Amino acid sequence: MLATSVFWLLSANRLFFASVLSGRAAGEAATWGFVAGLAVLVAAAQAALLLCLLNRWTVKPVLTVLIVGTALATYFMDRLGIYLDPSMLRNVVRSNPAEARELLTLSLVPHLLLYAALPLALLWQVRIVHRPLARALVWRAMALAATLALAACALLAVFQPFSSLMRNHKELRYLVTPANYLWSIGSVMAADLRGAAQPRQPIGLDATPGPSWAQQNKPRLMVLVVGETARAANWGLNGYARQTTPELARLPVINFGAVQACGTNTEVSLPCMFAPVGRRDYDEQRIRGSQSLLHVLARAGVDVHWRDNQSGCKGVCEGLSSENVVSINPPGLCSNGQCLDEGLLADLDRRLDRLQALPSGNQLLVLHMLGNHGPSYFRRYPAAFERFKPACQNDDLQRCSQQEIVNAYDNALLYTDHLLASLVTRLQQRATQLDSAMIYVSDHGESLGENRLFLHGMPYAIAPDVQKQVPMVMWTSAGFGQSARLDKDCLRQRAQQGASHDHLFHSVLGLLDVRTALYERALDLTADCRRRPPGAPS
Ligand SMILES: [Zn+2]
Repeated sequence: MLATSVFWLLSANRLFFASVLSGRAAGEAATWGFVAGLAVLVAAAQAALLLCLLNRWTVKPVLTVLIVGTALATYFMDRLGIYLDPSMLRNVVRSNPAEARELLTLSLVPHLLLYAALPLALLWQVRIVHRPLARALVWRAMALAATLALAACALLAVFQPFSSLMRNHKELRYLVTPANYLWSIGSVMAADLRGAAQPRQPIGLDATPGPSWAQQNKPRLMVLVVGETARAANWGLNGYARQTTPELARLPVINFGAVQACGTNTEVSLPCMFAPVGRRDYDEQRIRGSQSLLHVLARAGVDVHWRDNQSGCKGVCEGLSSENVVSINPPGLCSNGQCLDEGLLADLDRRLDRLQALPSGNQLLVLHMLGNHGPSYFRRYPAAFERFKPACQNDDLQRCSQQEIVNAYDNALLYTDHLLASLVTRLQQRATQLDSAMIYVSDHGESLGENRLFLHGMPYAIAPDVQKQVPMVMWTSAGFGQSARLDKDCLRQRAQQGASHDHLFHSVLGLLDVRTALYERALDLTADCRRRPPGAPS
């Protein structure tokens, strides 16, 4: 147990010690004293924990699982620069097999041989000496006392700098391996058990249709497209050096140039963007335990449908109508359990026909994209969209140059642009029969190798802007604009200012004219751009 603990200290905590050392004078004795103290503290505390938990029957199987788990953890931490906090672990646990497959590349094999197979071979060589119970207990107590004393001495020696480091950089504890992922797994499981014990809290019980519903002469459709991993920095409409949105640029869409995401991963962002209280008063437990915008709309009589091309709606559409593109299996678009995003538009015409048959009616259709889901950006678009070349064609990003990675990423954005533009065009064609609107917003951004960071999911407080700033686009048909009394020039002005996921809930309520006490006018992006009907109270 002690040997394993020292092995982890030396092999699995490179990022932790690199972060501790950053900003400290490398040549000074105080720095090395601090690092040595921390090293003793980490190894002794881990050994003490193992001494409490393991016995002669469990020691080998449990250490085997932990050694393999730790080797996997260090591989992804080192390669992608990720922190294994509860939010990241939730993402890992909820990812589907197709997503996971893209992360398991051949370069994992040598890493596992060195950091898992070799130590396991040594572990299983160890002969366990069986002592009588009383003597074994005495031995165990002595070993435990020794490691605890060692940990306590080390803690006392480094207490001052250690406590200030942990206060100022709370996220550092999620680099101490394997404690980080074990703690995070436990915390996610505890939260899920608490959540499972209670039904989802209903919200917006007072939701009713607003007065505009009675004056409607055409059915009204809002399509909300939830993007994936698209970052604002590479969005053509935001002024990126490359035109990654050529088709949208030709359409009368309104682009919101500075939109802040609620989280840096899907598990956080998705529930948050559909909640009345988003990032400004973030409470994960409350958001996960409550119903979403979709339930509020449904309560007022909006027909809600969720079509998913990713890892599901994360509870946002629980109990409501939903379907999955993989199970629809549109011809020519799916392979290996994943589909290109055009599958989201499969039989859209039939859906629109049905909607048109209704004399009045309000529908919200949510399309959840696979978007720019990494690391295999090149799998997110068909060959015709490989316009920026050479594009990285490997699941293992380390085998590509940063330029190749960016090329593949930008090609995937071109495909998103195409999807959104086709959707708007098809809605435009029905403008005489249907009032429609489209809102696109991505769930979070992405790191493409800047500062050696890849993918996303950094703790929010220290995440770079590229992971937090997302593109957002809005379009409304002339009829929808009229019935919502929307001044588009005004909205264009509003789009120049900042916005965030927090605005989504209230803006959708405003545009669809659903009344509830949950609605906050200040968070409705369109509120100041909707003219009041004549004679309405101010
Ligand atoms: Zn996501």
